[in-house]
Amino acid sequence: MNVGDRDDSDALDRARAVIERRARLIADFPEPGIAFKDLTPVLADPDGLDAVVDALASACSGADLIAGVDARGFLLGGAVARQLGLGVVAVRKGGKLPPPVIGLDYQLEYGTARLEIPEDGIDLADRRVAVLDDVLATGGTAVAAAQLLQRAGARVDTIAVVMELDGLSGRELVAAELGPAVRVHNLCLG
Ligand code: AMP
Repeated sequence: MNVGDRDDSDALDRARAVIERRARLIADFPEPGIAFKDLTPVLADPDGLDAVVDALASACSGADLIAGVDARGFLLGGAVARQLGLGVVAVRKGGKLPPPVIGLDYQLEYGTARLEIPEDGIDLADRRVAVLDDVLATGGTAVAAAQLLQRAGARVDTIAVVMELDGLSGRELVAAELGPAVRVHNLCLG
């Protein structure tokens, strides 16, 4: 764990207990060979949601805006922002937002994807933004979300996820693409 100190450890222990109990592994989804970690039952459990939000909020202390990544990051982003007294911005998949948008195409394990944020209406210049998602796998999505926010002038210093998948080098990609100043926090490894 890398979330923090004293009071955080209680939320972290509680979050891990519910993850242990409720997280599902679905083999060969969405592609053969992919072990899909379904954390939605964790968030559907009131104790799970409470503990996960508490622990992620600790990881994001110091941010002044939360960004949730489409789509499960939205569930976490709004709750964590509310907990910290901050606002939330949705980093959407391509084609969902009305123009004008700022967009970024990036590589997935298979094929490409696109993330977008609104160009108008949210002042991101010099905001300290924490990026939230459920799972960090190869890191491509989190890196793209961070780069998109940076392009709009934000300072991204935290990527926080419920589960970081071991062996997919997501953390290494974040370090290589975003530099050592961007910290990666997980509540558990999967
Ligand atoms: P990546 O860009 O490879 O780090 O993938 C991260 C994004 O894809 C996150 O939004 C995750 O929700 C989703 N994802 C990727 N791999 C998995 C997996 N094995 N289980 C659950 N979600 C995954």
